[in-house]
Amino acid sequence: MKGISILGSTGSIGCNTLKVIEHLGGFRVVAMAAGSNVEKLAEQVAKFGPELVSVDTEENAEKLARELSAAGTKRPKILFGSDGLIAVSTHSDAETVVSATVGAVGFVPTLRAIEAGKRIALANKETLVMAGELMTAAAAKSGAEILPVDSEHNAIHQCLRGEKILEVTRLILTASGGPFREKSSDEIAAATREQALNHPNWSMGDKITIDSATLMNKGLEVIEARWLFGFDADQISVIVHPQSVVHSMVEMVDGSVIAQLGVTDMKHPIQYALTYPERQAGCLKSLDFAKISQLTFEEPDLDRFPCLGLAYTALRTGGSMPAVLNAANEVAVESFLNGKIGLADIAAVNKGVMDDHTTTLADSLDAVLNADAWARSRAIMKIERSAAAV
Ligand code: MG
Repeated sequence: MKGISILGSTGSIGCNTLKVIEHLGGFRVVAMAAGSNVEKLAEQVAKFGPELVSVDTEENAEKLARELSAAGTKRPKILFGSDGLIAVSTHSDAETVVSATVGAVGFVPTLRAIEAGKRIALANKETLVMAGELMTAAAAKSGAEILPVDSEHNAIHQCLRGEKILEVTRLILTASGGPFREKSSDEIAAATREQALNHPNWSMGDKITIDSATLMNKGLEVIEARWLFGFDADQISVIVHPQSVVHSMVEMVDGSVIAQLGVTDMKHPIQYALTYPERQAGCLKSLDFAKISQLTFEEPDLDRFPCLGLAYTALRTGGSMPAVLNAANEVAVESFLNGKIGLADIAAVNKGVMDDHTTTLADSLDAVLNADAWARSRAIMKIERSAAAV
């Protein structure tokens, strides 16, 4: 039995990971960390029997202990906060760590798991955006393998199998275009929370769904691709493909393009990351090509979706700028979800914070965390000022 730790077990990727593990067999969940969804975590503990669990606060740790006792479930060791997350990510029996927390909170625990030489099934793209240089250097030193769970990067990983990297000229990330693909700038600016959370193809958590609506998600994925595969900004392009059947492509030096296709279900990339380099029979339906009437492709519109352009700017600037963009965006998305700002304001906040930032190196944990903290407070200040001005 292979030991697995899951960071973010009650989220969308975490729940799908547990479904994949149930289907595959041969894996044992040794540790899991969640935020505040104690009820769901209690169910997962009863079903999978991990040795260690962690939640966000001491209060929720006590609540979990009470729930488990009331249900007669054998109690694992219960921790909380960032120390708890790190204990889960570095558990000695875990060969693989599924990094699926949302946002910057997963950064240090994932880095510690990389330093410990574990296989990382990486769903948390924010960690690589913040500190790609640091994480890839740590992986090179410890020999940790980083396998992308993000569907586009997982597709590229599959397309690159057996290829010589020097013969690859371009990575082509596909984007669904989100719910506002055909909407005007005015309609996007007036979009409600419900409209923005209504993704046409993928079922995901709130933060990534909003990022998909602004195309920030694709921008973060461009930066993620740079660190996972070592290509420059000029060699990573984005094409809008509304059907989300082609999950991404690579172009070879002879002009050949290799694509990976499949159903839109995150269980597929999760399973690939867990079983690699083997492939096993999955629990998903086959693609029915007769039912796919067309596959279409179009250029992304950077005027209506400026967040994508901001990501390219951050990547080309380098240093602390990607971490700054990521942090500003996390604050702005949360403010949008709380009704404090409009959808188009997310790009305005991100751009404003980037414009105010003096880029520094991002070659140490402190440098990355400082840039992250600076950008968060700057974004909060901008959002509060604009609210005061209304
Ligand atoms: Mg993706």
